[in-house]
Amino acid sequence: MDSDARISTVTVLGAGSMGHGIAEVSAIAGYDVVLRDIEEEYVENGYEQIEWSVEKLAEKGQIDDAADTVLDRISTTTDLEAAVSDADLVLEAAPENLDLKQDIFGSVERHAPAETIIATNTSSLRVTDIAAELDDPSRACGIHFFNPPVKMDLAEVVYGEETAESVAEAAYQFVESLDKTPIYVRKDVPEFVVNNVITPFMEEAGWMIDDGSATVESVDAAMVYERGYPMGPCELNDFGGLDVLVHTREQWDQPIPNSIRERYDADQLGRKSGHGFYDYEDGEGVTYDSSDAEGVDTLRIEARMINEAARLVGDGVATPRDIDIGARLGGRFPEGVCRRGDKIGLESVLETVESLYERTGADRYEPAAYLRELVSDGDTGEDAGRGFYDYTDGRPFFYVDSEIDDRGVLRVTLDRAERLNAFNDDMFEEVRTLLETADPSAIRCVVFEGAGDAFSAGADVNSFTTADPIEMMDIDETMTAVSEFDRPTIAKIDGHCLGAGLELSLACDFRIATDGSTVGLPEMDLGLIPGGGGTQRLRRTIGEPLTKELVLRAKRVSASQADEWNLVHQCVPGDEIDEAVERYVADFVSGPQTALKVGKSVIDRGADVDLESGLAIEKQAFSLLLTTDEVTEGIEAFQEDRDAQFDEL
Ligand code: NAD
Repeated sequence: MDSDARISTVTVLGAGSMGHGIAEVSAIAGYDVVLRDIEEEYVENGYEQIEWSVEKLAEKGQIDDAADTVLDRISTTTDLEAAVSDADLVLEAAPENLDLKQDIFGSVERHAPAETIIATNTSSLRVTDIAAELDDPSRACGIHFFNPPVKMDLAEVVYGEETAESVAEAAYQFVESLDKTPIYVRKDVPEFVVNNVITPFMEEAGWMIDDGSATVESVDAAMVYERGYPMGPCELNDFGGLDVLVHTREQWDQPIPNSIRERYDADQLGRKSGHGFYDYEDGEGVTYDSSDAEGVDTLRIEARMINEAARLVGDGVATPRDIDIGARLGGRFPEGVCRRGDKIGLESVLETVESLYERTGADRYEPAAYLRELVSDGDTGEDAGRGFYDYTDGRPFFYVDSEIDDRGVLRVTLDRAERLNAFNDDMFEEVRTLLETADPSAIRCVVFEGAGDAFSAGADVNSFTTADPIEMMDIDETMTAVSEFDRPTIAKIDGHCLGAGLELSLACDFRIATDGSTVGLPEMDLGLIPGGGGTQRLRRTIGEPLTKELVLRAKRVSASQADEWNLVHQCVPGDEIDEAVERYVADFVSGPQTALKVGKSVIDRGADVDLESGLAIEKQAFSLLLTTDEVTEGIEAFQEDRDAQFDEL
């Protein structure tokens, strides 16, 4: 547990859908947790759900501690005073009712220590209103988890008008300590950040159906097949429930499209009622396919989301980066809303909302002042060098994290965990840019790894249908940048390593995998062949018969099978991977840098020429190396029977 020392015991009030999940993730992270509900039966029920889920996670090896250890950290009660008297953080997850939540906050303030942070998981009330009756509202904030907390990697940390900076910071660190991603909502706006940018996706489709510019099927197909969203807007409405959208819109006096209102009035609420935009009871459920996608103005939907994002940025509610992380993790969007705006060009976004505003006069299309400002300053997006993001000083990275430690180890993390680190065009470009702009003299070796539960599950299938074929050629350039990087490169594989993930690892010099990992090239199942060297580097690594097995049969194999085939250098138990990688790293950090570089280059260049030419390359490199200080040191150390000190050269 690395949260601020301020929080070590957590009390969750409400053991329902959200409360039990929040209690569970807190206990998994090592906190002592008290779970409180108003009736014994409700707390028991919540605890049983935690028990079931923790046991499943332990069985699958997805948590570090044994199930019993995690469960022992949780106690249950119906006594509010006992529940909060020792808590560093109290988080309420009671029903969405302002009076009830104010009442709960008041009781907590009476019974908890003065320094206890009081947080709410509300999704549609204002934190400021819930905290209004507190003597000290500066101790309150929102921590808005997403459903289900065990699976969703995001929480919004919401400032009420009086929230103290230190309270929001402690809440932020608490979320991080749960191994989840926090984003700040710096002003207490209705619906916070994620719902504000996602709602127009579902709602605008309704207005388009109302005015005849799209059908249910066409708008869903276009957003999925042309724009890469995992679900169409009508499908998503059905999934979440039309009542949810209607209630929130009504709560904030927002108009509701007829196509949504009429279904809601007829009790067609989506999947849960058997009917919604689609018929799940007597029909086939979702009925669109790619052929339905034509003729839909997809920009109309995206422009509304981007305009909303501009409003949030302009009003100081959230940064573009936090908005984008929120849309990716909270909405499962293929990329952030601001990033997409910068790619589309903000002048087109402004034109779209402006013309809709002029035509309809509806507030929802009113261009955000910040959007107008960006466009009038010429900051219209990536092509202009600046938009929501600044592209002038090198490219901002969205999906790749990197750091160089003081030994010269460059660690590159593929960080798109919400899609099992699947590559989209940005991610390919980021890996390439990183290696092409890195200073090799500051680097002794490179370790690639994946965030979350995978190395990389491949190239994002959505990008095949949405990306320009020319852009997809970047795959090759990326893999070449990896294979030609003139320091040893290691792929640390833990989890799925498929398609482009395997291709990236094949471009590395070493592959070290955990025994729970899976490797394979599933492209043939999509009617494709591997595009990033998967046919060529693989054949040079494991030979033709096994390459054909993997490529032509789209086979996935376990890491231990891959080890038998010499496709990976080592296959180790999950908890030994760091040590195994470190053994390689230690060799490369302390080894002779020039000889390592030359050795790698000679092996790689020699692979594609005949033996005679290969030997000539080797001979030339050998004689050049004879003149280096490394050789002098290596030979002296050998004669003096000591370890060579190459790293001091
Ligand atoms: P729920 O109805 O499943 O659970 C609420 C629980 O709170 C019930 O078990 C109820 O008995 C208990 N409760 C009532 N009064 C209480 C009190 N005084 N003290 C302690 N417990 C009390 O509701 P939920 O879906 O878990 O939602 C809880 C909160 O989380 C709401 O504010 C909701 O807006 C928010 N939220 C819900 C979701 C979601 O998708 N369900 C997502 C994010 C946030």
